Amino acid sequence: MASTTSPWNEPSSWHGPKVACEQANGSGTTQDHQKQFAITHITKAPITSAPIRSSLIQQLLKEQLEDLRDCHEGEVADYIPELAKANPEDFGIVMATADGRVYAVGDWEKTFTIQSISKPFMYGLAMSLLSPSFMEKKVGVEPSGDAFNAISLDPRTGIPRNPMINAGAIATAAQVWRHDPGRAEDLTLEFFSSLAGRPLAVNESVYESERASGHRNRAISHLLRNAAVIEEEPEPGLDLYFRQCSIGVTCRDLAVMAATLACQGRNPLTQDEPLNPALTTRMLAVMGSCGMYDYAGQWLYDVGMPAKSGVGGGVLAVVPGRLGIAVYSPRLDAFGNSVRGIATCRRLSQALELHLFDQTPLQQSPVRSTYKGTERRSRRWRSTAEAAVLDPLRSQIKVLHAQGVLDFAALENVLGSIEQAATDGAVIILDLGQVSELPAASSAFLKRQSELLQAAGQQLLLCRSSHLELPAALSREKFTYASLDLALEAAEDLLLEKSACEGSAGNGSTALAAAPKGTPTDACLLGLLAPLAANLREAITERLELRHYAAGSLVMARQQESDQLFLVASGRFSIFLPIPRPEAPARLARMATFSEGMVFGDAAFFSGELRMADVVADTDGSCWLLQRSSFEGLQQDNPAAAMALLTQLAIDLGRKVALCGQQLTLVEDL
Ligand code: GLN
Repeated sequence: MASTTSPWNEPSSWHGPKVACEQANGSGTTQDHQKQFAITHITKAPITSAPIRSSLIQQLLKEQLEDLRDCHEGEVADYIPELAKANPEDFGIVMATADGRVYAVGDWEKTFTIQSISKPFMYGLAMSLLSPSFMEKKVGVEPSGDAFNAISLDPRTGIPRNPMINAGAIATAAQVWRHDPGRAEDLTLEFFSSLAGRPLAVNESVYESERASGHRNRAISHLLRNAAVIEEEPEPGLDLYFRQCSIGVTCRDLAVMAATLACQGRNPLTQDEPLNPALTTRMLAVMGSCGMYDYAGQWLYDVGMPAKSGVGGGVLAVVPGRLGIAVYSPRLDAFGNSVRGIATCRRLSQALELHLFDQTPLQQSPVRSTYKGTERRSRRWRSTAEAAVLDPLRSQIKVLHAQGVLDFAALENVLGSIEQAATDGAVIILDLGQVSELPAASSAFLKRQSELLQAAGQQLLLCRSSHLELPAALSREKFTYASLDLALEAAEDLLLEKSACEGSAGNGSTALAAAPKGTPTDACLLGLLAPLAANLREAITERLELRHYAAGSLVMARQQESDQLFLVASGRFSIFLPIPRPEAPARLARMATFSEGMVFGDAAFFSGELRMADVVADTDGSCWLLQRSSFEGLQQDNPAAAMALLTQLAIDLGRKVALCGQQLTLVEDL
């Protein structure tokens, strides 16, 4: 720009009218503003009705690009002579999402220099090398209200006001250089490359041009040296600053860098983690208040995104947790910000409702559903004696399914539901399977809540939390279960235990412990065969053979011939069914767990089909086996006994089917 009134020569004289492409639509009056708002929304309409869904976003960006191409306001920076060579018509827009999708239109592959957009990143690098508290002593975090190249320090603190203006950025670069003079530039380039997800390099001609013409920055560096913000000779730190500003990037690189900030420092394309969440929070905060220099307030008001611009024509904006946007268009306004870049971000912010302060209250309840243990029980089959104790207590089990991000507001809601559920003796199961994030502060609350409940004689069981980073204390808890089914079983066991402690000794459940002695007596008598007349029972038991199983051993396997019927004599046996999963090995899900006196293997035994499930011994145990040949013998020799056995099995199957049906119906309705 040949103008003598350019902001970089004479910042104080540059407080003329704001240049913005929206002025083409008129931006001075309320009416105009409404018109502009309306226009933005008109551009939205055809997009939503576009037939090809996958290109909707691309199309939106393209429309913005076409709309704003006619805007020729602003001037290409020429105070660094090499920058004046940029083609003023270049225009690219890129959006990169937190899950790694990139939408790019226009000149998104064109390389330009990053310039001031390097500042927040260099500040992040300095904080990670030297600590945030160290950097706070060197550079403030107050918006300056001055132009980016103001030759001034904060009169109150004697240090630069913030790291986004040149004074703060030069002080920051000087600290990075001082940290490791020999490798400072390599560190910088490696760091920037990791942010962009590809190797970046310095544009030597822009660097030379900037170094040769950077008298103002040199003056700033001497001011910093004079104020002892820089402890050594200023030139090497200043040189690193010139080199960082001269790093060549594309619009796509910047969008990926922005998305990396949106993802708390993890590059969503490469999964590299050049930064950590605590640092990105600070960087975004400084970008929010100071990133657009003396236009920062208006920017935050209109666009509402932490952002950074550079005189190379780039603008980078971040929607924290969601996405990054980058625009490249070299014509700059009076503040040194890309005119089309600002207009694009403004339009996208409005059209896509991206403004940071436009937060809708929680729409989705963080507790998806709640119900009692009467509605859903574990797949552990209970004996008649256990059921007699447990069934009246099942309503003390409360299941809460949580969902989404359990940040403070959501967790407060979950805690409210837990409190409501915490009636006398309650066992509360909190299912975290659908929770996508459990911040540390929230899991600390959960731990505290669990302790409080325990002190009040209640219990909080967590399940399906393996995908979340629970603090060690909580994940090691004995009350954390892999599935809802296991948590339900544990809850039932807790109720049984409690009632055994409270009730008199020698009640129904102790009788279940009777061990088989080698003849099918006690245990089976309590179960399937108990109601039969002695002579029939004997005719059956004669034909049974006892088999022992070690814990973990396979009792039967899928696809095997099924010519045995199993009556559990002791121990516990679980049936597992493979649940197919797309592109992953099938998951074995528990269908049922049986104990003394219960029968399994009956369905295939009668149908003669191959086994449909695996059965594993959960504990050491034993079963009475009835071979098909023995059963056929029984049918021959003692049809009455065979009929009696069949009747019992039919009753048992009937009960199972009825309970399964009831559970399915209830569960489908939850
Ligand atoms: N390297 C440029 C300078 O120091 C960076 C300024 C900018 O992008 N705003 O002037």
